[in-house]
Amino acid sequence: MSRVDQAYARLVEALRAQTDLADALHLLEWDQETVLPAGAAERRARQIGTLAAALHERRTDPAFLTLVDELAAISAELDPSQAVDVRETKWHVDRARCLDPELVRERSTLHAQARGIWVTARRDNDFAALAPWLGRVIDTERRVATAIDQRRPAYDVLLEEFEPGMSAASLDALFQELRTGLQPLVDRIQRKANRRHRGAEALCGAFPVNAQRRFNKLVADRLGFDFNKGRLDEAAHPFTTTVGDDVRITTRYDRRDLRYGLYATIHETGHALYEQGLDPGAWGTPRGSACSFGIHESQSRLWENQVGRSEAFWTHLLPAARKAFPALAGRSLGDVLLAVNDAGPSLIRTEADEITYNLHIILRFDIERSLIDGSLEVAALPQVWREKMRHYLGVEPETDRDGVLQDVHWPGGSIGYFPSYALGNVYAAQLFKAAEAEIGPLDAALAAGEFTVLLGWLRQRIHRFGQTYRPVELITLATGETPTARPLLDHLERRIAFLEST
Ligand code: ZN
Repeated sequence: MSRVDQAYARLVEALRAQTDLADALHLLEWDQETVLPAGAAERRARQIGTLAAALHERRTDPAFLTLVDELAAISAELDPSQAVDVRETKWHVDRARCLDPELVRERSTLHAQARGIWVTARRDNDFAALAPWLGRVIDTERRVATAIDQRRPAYDVLLEEFEPGMSAASLDALFQELRTGLQPLVDRIQRKANRRHRGAEALCGAFPVNAQRRFNKLVADRLGFDFNKGRLDEAAHPFTTTVGDDVRITTRYDRRDLRYGLYATIHETGHALYEQGLDPGAWGTPRGSACSFGIHESQSRLWENQVGRSEAFWTHLLPAARKAFPALAGRSLGDVLLAVNDAGPSLIRTEADEITYNLHIILRFDIERSLIDGSLEVAALPQVWREKMRHYLGVEPETDRDGVLQDVHWPGGSIGYFPSYALGNVYAAQLFKAAEAEIGPLDAALAAGEFTVLLGWLRQRIHRFGQTYRPVELITLATGETPTARPLLDHLERRIAFLEST
């Protein structure tokens, strides 16, 4: 083995040991969110803290940092895949070493505290209680951004934590295209929402939880989720986590509405299919890790929306659904499609339909960017929120609980995270369009329950690359176009035309 290969092998070994610790953390957190008895929460928090500190120590170990620097200095001698791992590791290491350990500690304590305050502030509809904490979070994130790179706008530096290579200026252009295209569509669904259609209730009725558990497993399995290397369980807020070779998804059930659990399951299955499609030979390295939050979200949204709300998908699924739930007897395919494509402006992001969802995100992007650049004061948030809701969606929350207090992201310190949701929608539509352009219309395959055609394409174009390319480059290579909202707008236009035709 050459000296270069030996050094690279040491890097992989170090990264894999870090991944083992991260996997153990994921397992403790998964357990905490699903089955942990309440009385064990305190010690669990301590265990998570201890393990997180051990992981941080490894990631900032001087010997590890020196190894990364040495490899980066000889990157010309590395083969292309080694060079990817070194490039991405170096990028993360350089960001981390800019931060004073004191600032790192202060920041994570602040986020934990502010999250706690947020829970009660939201419950009590008390924005004033959260405001000073939010002010501290914004201030700390600005300090973090300045420490990492004081020459660039602070928001860009924060955004890159979630979407490497993306800038506020390119998001601005993309979101401008999206917003201009969405506004007339929202006007159309507003008119439509005034005369609520009959089918919207087609997936409401009696759906026993045990039957839903079996049915959701069946759906995840048919979409391609590998239960030999994964699980489906339940949690209050659905999520996906990876524990080594084992990808765990969670959902939740409503015994009166089949959509509530089913679409959470399909969404998380999309995330899991990505994780299960990463190159197993590259595990623990950047090449074996997901590209970005936006790319991850594109995988969940594509299965949830492009596939899961289509006529073809329900042509396949409805017979199995009728068998599982007597309540569906007599419900037609047309009614079910109306139920899963029901749309109309609403106050809560997580309950928004496929069309208006993106405006909820653009609103948050506008606001968080202004908070970071200092042009918006925290005290003005509730008012600005209401104005923007009225402007974008024509509805206005009566309480801050249904307004600015609804999301945990800002108190939790995740600033620059929201755009990845809309980017996911944009990328998903581009990818689905590109897949159909390459393999031909997918309706017949989806209606026959043959999901492997589409999954195979995604594995080939997205999953197997890990972080080989940055998100914009990956989307451009996979679709032949730089990120553009046009395919998403066309997709939503077809959805609205369908709703209007009923
Ligand atoms: Zn997601």
